[in-house]
Parts: sequence; C-alpha cells; structure tokens
Amino acid sequence: MTKSSPSVVWFRNDLRLSDNPALLAAVAKGPVIPLFILDDETAGRPRGAASRWWLDKSLRSLGRDLAAAGAPLALRRGGAREVLNQVIEETRAGAILWNRLYDGPTVERDRDIEVGLAHRGLECRSFNAGLLNEPWDIKTGAGGPYKVFTPYWRAARAAAEGCAPNPDVKTIPPSSRGARSEDIDGCGLHPDQPDWSGGFGDWNPGEAGARNRLNSFLDDTAKDYAEHRDRPDRAGTSRLSPHLHFGEIGPRQVWAAAQSAAARGDVSERQVEAFLRELGWREFNHHLLFHFPHLASEPLDQRFKAFPWRTERSGLEAWRRGKTGFPIVDAGMRELWTTGWMHNRVRMIAASFLVKDLLIDWREGEAWFWDTLVDADPANNAANWQWVAGSGADAAPFFRVFNPVLQGEKFDPQGGYVRRWVPELANVPNALIHQPWRAEADLLGAQPGAIYPGPIVDHTLARHRALAAYETSK
Ligand code: FAD
Repeated sequence: MTKSSPSVVWFRNDLRLSDNPALLAAVAKGPVIPLFILDDETAGRPRGAASRWWLDKSLRSLGRDLAAAGAPLALRRGGAREVLNQVIEETRAGAILWNRLYDGPTVERDRDIEVGLAHRGLECRSFNAGLLNEPWDIKTGAGGPYKVFTPYWRAARAAAEGCAPNPDVKTIPPSSRGARSEDIDGCGLHPDQPDWSGGFGDWNPGEAGARNRLNSFLDDTAKDYAEHRDRPDRAGTSRLSPHLHFGEIGPRQVWAAAQSAAARGDVSERQVEAFLRELGWREFNHHLLFHFPHLASEPLDQRFKAFPWRTERSGLEAWRRGKTGFPIVDAGMRELWTTGWMHNRVRMIAASFLVKDLLIDWREGEAWFWDTLVDADPANNAANWQWVAGSGADAAPFFRVFNPVLQGEKFDPQGGYVRRWVPELANVPNALIHQPWRAEADLLGAQPGAIYPGPIVDHTLARHRALAAYETSK
C-alpha cells in the first residue's frame, strides 16, 4: 500500500453522497473507487422483485451523481469477498471502507471479510450511516437489549439528541486505475416478461428524489401528521420508507430537517415528535434484528413455536390477490401489488387478517411483503409481522383481533381508499362500503359475489377459532 493508493468505497444500503461517512473518510484520504456489488450469493436473503426494481433506478441515479462528482460507480455481480479481491487486484487499492448493515448473515459475512482483508495488510473501516444509534449502544440498566419500545425510545431518543449529518461530498478524486464495471441493463433488476411495474411511476428513487420527498413532506403533510398518519384515504405520511431503506437519505438527515422545521415554527413540536417516534420504531426494529438475528424466521416469543397454523392455500391466494371479500384488506393488497407500497394502518389490518382470521403463519405474509414491497426491509418487515402476530417484542397481544369492517369504518370513513383500489365497489354507499355483502344487487351492479367476492371467512367465527388456537398453544 502506498500513500496514494486508492480506497474502495463499498456502497450497500447507503446510496447517497450526502451524510455518507464512509465516502467522506475515503475522500479525505485520496483517490476513490466507488463500488456496488450485486451479491445474490452471500448477502443474506436475496432481494425481492419490487426491491430489485427500486435498486435498478437507485443505482442509475447514484451512478450519475458519482460521475458528476468525479468518480464513476463500478457495478459488479458476484460473491462480495471474491469481487472485493478482484477489485483490489485491478486497482491496487489499499483501503476498503463501507457503512454497516445489521442483519445476522451480513454482519457475519462482513466480519469475515474484514478479518481476511486486515490479515493481508489492507486498511478496513466501517461506519454508521443508517441509524441514529448503533444497536449495541442502547442498553437496559442490566446491560442487555431492550424488548419494550417505550423505554427503548426514551433512551435512544436522548442519545440521538443533537445528532447532526456529516457534510455532503461534492467532488471525489478518481483513481487512475479504475475498476471494470458491468452494464446495469444486463443485471436483470428491472422486470421484463412481463414488466409488471407500470404502477410504480409515482416513485422517484435516488438521492434527489429522497430529498424532494422529505422537503415536500415537511412543507405540507407534516403539519397534520399526528392526525392523518392513520388515514389511508389521505396522503398523510412521508412515504420515505424505501428511500430510508436504500439509504438515499439517512435518519440523521431526516432528524435534523424535522428539528429545523420545528425550530422555524413551520411544523409544531407535537407533529415532529410523532414523526420522530416512527423513526424510533425503525431504530427499535434494527436493534431487535441485531440482537435477535432470527427475527424473520423464528418467533421471539417461544410459546408460538408450536402454534397450530393452517396450511390451506386458497385463503393465502385470495389474500395475496386482494380477493378476500373484505374491502379494506383487498384495497391494501391491491395497492401493494400495483405500487409496491401499502399504508401502515392497512399493513396492520391486512397482516392481522392473514394471521388471525385465516390462521396462516405470519412467515407466509412476511415473505409476500418481502417480494412485493419497495421498502422491504429485514428489520422492519420481520419485526412488524411478529408484532401483529403477537409473537414479537412488545407485540400486540394475540387476543386483540382487528375487525376489518370496524377498522375500515374508522380509518377510511368515506370509503375513498377502498373505492380507489377496489373500483368494483365504486357505487356502494359509505354506510356499506366496508361490508358490501349487505348491499342490494342494484347498488353492486350485479348479484352479491358476482363482481366482488363475498367474505371468505365469517369474522366472528374466525376470531373464536383464533382465540381457541391461541389457548391450545399457550
Ligand atoms: P411515515 O409515517 O412517514 O414514517 C416515517 C418513517 O418511519 C418511515 O419511512 C419508516 O422508515 C419509519 N416507520 C414508520 N412506521 C414504522 C413501523 N411501524 N416500523 C418501523 N419503521 C416505521 N416498513 C419498512 O420500511 N419496510 C418493511 O418491510 C415494512 N414491513 C411492514 C410490515 C407490516 C406487517 C407492517 C404492519 C409494517 C411494516 N413496515 C415496514 C412499517 C411501516 O408500515 C412503513 O415503514 C410505513 O408504512 C412507511 O410509510 P412512510 O414512509 O410514509 O411512514
């Protein structure tokens, strides 16, 4: 290694130039080789289809931004260890820098890579770009991880106070020995045969899109966030989740911008606090995933290990396709399929329906979300599914079963959300929009069940069945 040997910045879920500590540290050292490795072999669970769609656009955006700053992105496919070794050989790099990830398989792989590279005398440094607090920094009085959100957030919020983003990187010194790059068009990230992504057009993946999304949220939607965040018929939330997952914007940036909006008086402290608390759930879920690496595959509450889940496929299929006969559930599942995203309140209702009304294992739902969500995230997806199922940390108790009709009436009172995603019900009056099986044929435009299915379960019976199953498994 010589003083002028370049540093590789290994991009992962940190696809941005601002508040990127690994990139900043590399630029301070000298020439930089930005690298992204499309690793379907050793990076834990392969990305789902919607996630790959997003990654395609985000990498193109990052590539343009890096080229404008002076150093082109090298995109490579393969196992991370092998690719890093090849790139080091090609470029004679002396240092490898990256921002940390927190899921079990990636933590282990990165540790192995770090040990191997350090053994060869290469400088290896990792940083925190993705969280307000490192998962190991927030500890209970006894020194262990938190399992309850409220005390976790009290401690984590206090520790995050005053956190500030790192300065933006504007220019990047390139390396005279660049790394070979593959053509992104050949990586198969964008779907073809068929291209099902026609409904994803409202998204703008990439750092500029993330920044715009945050600004427009703080300029407008944030003012009523606490009141509107549970209403799927309103644009009441930030829709930052995929941008945060891919690290096109970091939580420190979101935190600082929200605090500034409050300091300027643009958004009230109460609204900002409600919004930061949701970022707190994101932090808590990463804390859980780090300390309980099997979060996506095993219930945290061991009593659920022997739960008598039903393996019946037709209910699962009806749920996936948005044809359960419960309008709020179907609207959510169709929104998900069409746009790659679903409103948080509806995620809870749809997940509860699968787990409690259909008694289908939460892992089936988690896997479907993993494939179809643009924000699919190993921590947030698994922890939220376990929360709904009642098997997670600080979870909703299993016996609290959402009634999909009452939930629909409460959170979509005029049925605007349902009418948007289930147009078969466009003419059903508000009073019956969440239980259309009670509507007369002339309002439905057909006999009940002909154009929109009747309910696939009786909710009252299903609730009793769920509670009985819970009793036997306790
Ligand atoms: P906002 O209300 O604007 O919140 C701001 C940010 O806080 C979000 O972008 C997100 O990063 C975070 N956040 C908000 N709610 C939660 C929450 N409940 N848990 C963790 N973080 C939260 N979120 C994901 O990012 N990826 C997932 O794979 C995912 N799977 C979920 C599965 C289920 C069954 C449920 C009930 C929720 C899931 N969520 C997941 C959490 C939540 O639904 C989304 O983060 C939220 O809908 C994103 O919308 P937003 O950006 O407008 O949120």
